[in-house]
This record gives sequence, C-alpha cells and structure tokens, in this order.
Amino acid sequence: MRYAPSDLPVFTLTTGPVDAYPAVLRGLASTVLYDYDPAFQATYQRVTEKLATVVQAETMPVILHGEPVLGLEAAAASLIGRGDVVLNLVSGVYAKGFEGWAARSGAEIVELAVPYDRVIDPADVARVLAERPDVTLVAACHHDTPSGTVNPVAEIGAVVRRHGALFLVDAVSSFGGMPVDARSAAIDFLVTGPNKCLGCPPGLSILGISDRAWAKMKANPQAPRASILSILDWEDAWRADKPFPFTPSVAEINGLEAAIDLYLTEGPEKVWARHALTARACRAGLKAMGLAIWPAEEGFASPTCTAVRTPDGIDEAQLRAEIRARYGVVLSSGRGETLGRLTRIGHMGPTAQPLHAVVALTALGGALAGLGHRVDVGAGIAAALEAIDAG
Ligand SMILES: *Cc1c(COP(=O)(O)O)cnc(C)c1O
Repeated sequence: MRYAPSDLPVFTLTTGPVDAYPAVLRGLASTVLYDYDPAFQATYQRVTEKLATVVQAETMPVILHGEPVLGLEAAAASLIGRGDVVLNLVSGVYAKGFEGWAARSGAEIVELAVPYDRVIDPADVARVLAERPDVTLVAACHHDTPSGTVNPVAEIGAVVRRHGALFLVDAVSSFGGMPVDARSAAIDFLVTGPNKCLGCPPGLSILGISDRAWAKMKANPQAPRASILSILDWEDAWRADKPFPFTPSVAEINGLEAAIDLYLTEGPEKVWARHALTARACRAGLKAMGLAIWPAEEGFASPTCTAVRTPDGIDEAQLRAEIRARYGVVLSSGRGETLGRLTRIGHMGPTAQPLHAVVALTALGGALAGLGHRVDVGAGIAAALEAIDAG
C-alpha cells in the first residue's frame, strides 16, 4: 500500500501564513484580559517598547489590528493626499499592488518598474528623482515575496533621503528574517507584521514611523479618523494610561510578545544567519538537482523564501498537489504575474532551519520525478548538506 500522509500537513514550508513557534501558540493561549484592565494596558506598552528596539523608528511603533495589508492600506490613506506625487518602485506583485491604494488618494503616480525576476537599481531611483523633483513619497517593497527577490532598500533609502521625499517600505516578509530597520535604511514609514519571519499567525500590522511622516499625516486633511484605516487615532494608544480607539486583538498581542521575546533571546544576528543558511542550502540543492531559481541573479534571492522556476512541461499547481499528496509538505505558489511560473519554499520563523531545506528539496524532487521530470534528488540533498556543513 502506498504511503499517504494524514489530512493535516506534515510540514508547512510556506511563505505566509507560516508555522507558528510553539512559544507563540502558548502566548496566544494566555487568558484573554479586558483591554482596559491595567494588566493588559501594561502588556501593550511593554510589547510596543520591545518592538521599538527592533523596528528602530524615530517614534514608538504603532500596532494596527489586522494583518499587514491593513497597515499598507492605512499608510497609503494616511500619508498620501491629492497634491502628492508618488514614485512607486515596482519589482513584483506587492509593490504593484500598492499603486491601487496610493492612487485612491488622488495623487499622481510615477512608476519605475523592472521585470519581476530582477530588483530596483538605486541609480535608476536617483535618475527618476532628478527628472521628477516634485516626488513627495517613494514606495518600495523590500522582499517582494511572490518573486523571492530582495531590493537594496538601504541604498535606495539613502537616495530618497538626499532628495527629501518620504520613503515608505513594505518590509512584511523581510523584517525579523534579515537585517532591516527604519534607521539603517532611512525609512520614514516601515510596514511589517508578525506573521512571516517572527513566526506568529496573521492578525497584526506593525508600523515604524518617522517624525516627518507623522507631520505629513497630521497635515493631510484626507488622513482617516474614526476608521479602521486610521493611524492617527492610534498614536498614543501604546501608553498604558491612554485609551484604545477600539478593542485591540488581545490574544495576538500575547502571541507577539512571545515572538519578540524569542527573537531577542536568540539574538537577531543569529536569527538572520539561520534564515540565510537555510536559503543557501536550498539554492545549492536546487542547482545540484538541475533546477533553477526564479531570481535572474543569485544575489537578488531572498534569505526568507526560495522561488523555484517551474520546469518546462510541468504544471505548477499539479506539482504542489503532488508534493502535498505524496509527502504532506505544503509549499506556496506564485501570485499574480508569477502564478504558475514558480513554486516558493518559505524559510520564515520556525521553518528557517537548515534541515527544512533538505525536506523541501526531497519533497520537490520526489514529486518532480513522480511527474516524469528527471532530477537528481540525491545530488541535491548532498549539496544542501554540504552547504549546511560549510555554515
Ligand atoms: C505577506 C505579505 C503581505 C501581507 O499580505 P497578505 O498577502 O494578505 O498576507 C504584504 N506584503 C508582503 C511583501 C508580504 O509578503
């Protein structure tokens, strides 16, 4: 009888939602306190203060109570007004998606785009800003997850700062898995969430905001108030002695505290190193198996997600279904323009462990072989193990 895994996955190696850390699950299971109980208000302030040490923005982080699309949409609604000119740096599906929210404000949108297997060149940003000195906000996606590519945000941030525009970055799938913070990349508005590399379930947005960005939002008559999209309403909510505009997601805050504690205890450098090593092992294995990564150059590839180009003649959806049915392993598809053209292996939070790369390679290779595509699975595993041993 052929082995068939149980109904639930054996390994979830996706790019979000991701497997949550056991300590996070225990945090989520804590007693749900009344939000105005002093114990919860103290927790909320403590969690925000811990977050501040890793977000490194000029002001205290704002937590919004919905998964990070809320943070992105709220950022666009609050920061951008009719008189603005937004330079949108498009290297993938999420960056392109920001355009819709930015345009809703009535602003003019200028686009700098590259093919979705490449990344933005800071020199091109400088050139466009020189041509368009009226740009007031530059938006970028750090790691455009549906392509598994990483933009050089620190270099872009330096260019934007020299020009004087505000810099908004979607760092949802990079934050906590590789070096990125508001200060070192000159980011005025950093949007992230705990549901990727911090190993939490989806449910919160985390915003790191500069003084200039606060001033811009406060001066924007279009910025939402008394709305789920309002950021202004939450400015002081982190303080234990201030009211919440509406009920915060109490359980998610407890989960986030557990995640931040894990992150700080392990040490960010160590956490980033195991994300990077897992991705390196994965890429080495793919190459040895005879498969190609999606990014046009290895230097563009993310340490938190490896996107594998779908071999000619293979149906990508069928490939993932085969991986799930044979081995109980769940991988992510592409999205939008990359849907059907690549399969993504997540290295995020608890799955950013080198041996998970071996699991993913084995499942991918086994399923491809089952579909009649020749791959050298053994060579792939040997190369991954070699990469792990090399550290
Ligand atoms: C996951 C993610 C988000 C949040 O969006 P969902 O697709 O709703 O999970 C935003 N930006 C990036 C780059 C992400 O990876």
